[in-house]
Amino acid sequence: MFEWFGKVSFCPSTKVDAFAQHLKDGRIMGSRCKGCGRISYPPVADCPKCLSGDFEWMEMSGRGTVMTLTKISAAPAGFEDEAPFVIGVADLEETGRCLAWFGKTIPEEEIRIGMPVQVVPRIFEDIPEIKVYYTLEKPGTTWTKGSSA
Ligand SMILES: [Zn+2]
Repeated sequence: MFEWFGKVSFCPSTKVDAFAQHLKDGRIMGSRCKGCGRISYPPVADCPKCLSGDFEWMEMSGRGTVMTLTKISAAPAGFEDEAPFVIGVADLEETGRCLAWFGKTIPEEEIRIGMPVQVVPRIFEDIPEIKVYYTLEKPGTTWTKGSSA
């Protein structure tokens, strides 16, 4: 199911590939180790702390703050026709970091390091090769199926 992420798929199948299905259902999921309770985002099947392979899914709030950002003009293979676009890394409230495109609720000139953002699951309708993704949006933005706002 990881091939849902796009034009270039380096990892078509993993133990956490239900992540993509959860995104399609509108949920951002991390993992919680059943051995030691460590929370991970992105989700990991095998705990780096206690090495247990036993985990459960945990829904994330999606709330975070912008840690860094960049404007991509020379896009990676497969995304040449999307450039230029702005991507950022958000520090998530619970744990972990999330690399994503900025959504339409945050105009490029308003993007600042440290600003609060909401990670919002998306189903891509403009690019057929990409089924699911997520964007960084203004706090309070909610997921709605087929919404491009
Ligand atoms: Zn663990």
